[in-house]
Amino acid sequence: MSEFLFPTRPAKGIPVEGEARNFPINRIFCVGRNYLAHAAEMGNVPDYEAPFYFTKAPTHSVLSGANVPYPPGTENYHHEMELSILIGAPAFRISQDDAEQVIYGYCASLDMTRRDLQNASKADRRPWDTSKDFEDGAVFATASKAEAVGAIKDQRISLSVNGETRQDASVAELIHSVPAIVSDLSKFYHLEPGDVIMTGTPAGVSAVQAGDVLRGEISGMAPVELTILAPE
Ligand code: MN
Repeated sequence: MSEFLFPTRPAKGIPVEGEARNFPINRIFCVGRNYLAHAAEMGNVPDYEAPFYFTKAPTHSVLSGANVPYPPGTENYHHEMELSILIGAPAFRISQDDAEQVIYGYCASLDMTRRDLQNASKADRRPWDTSKDFEDGAVFATASKAEAVGAIKDQRISLSVNGETRQDASVAELIHSVPAIVSDLSKFYHLEPGDVIMTGTPAGVSAVQAGDVLRGEISGMAPVELTILAPE
């Protein structure tokens, strides 16, 4: 019998509407530059050929309703409101036509970003880890099963800070569609039940401060909420 030297972390999960059990978070993949207007506001041209990805550690996720301190190491902490895909079956080299068969559900989510660190990483051609993959950096709302959501088509995706709208778009603006993302990502990984894919943010990302209350919504899904506390 093998035992661990230190206590292991319990797995994290996402509550699911109408389901007593949580969706277990295995891996978190994130798509970059998937809305034209957001790519433009960042000074980038999107890649229409294929999506690109970065990852976040599951241990860095929190659930909607969390109160989290303004993170260390940044003076430009941004919200990115995103649709997340929850994978419910194995998929490797799956076609776009078959991709929806492996989707368990969807949820509203926040890809929180230390923008100043990301800009520095880009300038120095360094990886994005400290800007994207940090404690409390992924926020997930209660999920909805795929059959309850229906097609991802033209749902409104929006985010407000202290009641003021900052992001307001439609998932119809996704450059790489949900099936295209699942199919493409499955060329690089053996997707497994529990994997989460954040699909990118629309335009309007902006800085938040201690005391701010964020609320993101996607039509037909539970909202994602986050309160920023004073820094530690
Ligand atoms: Mn993002």
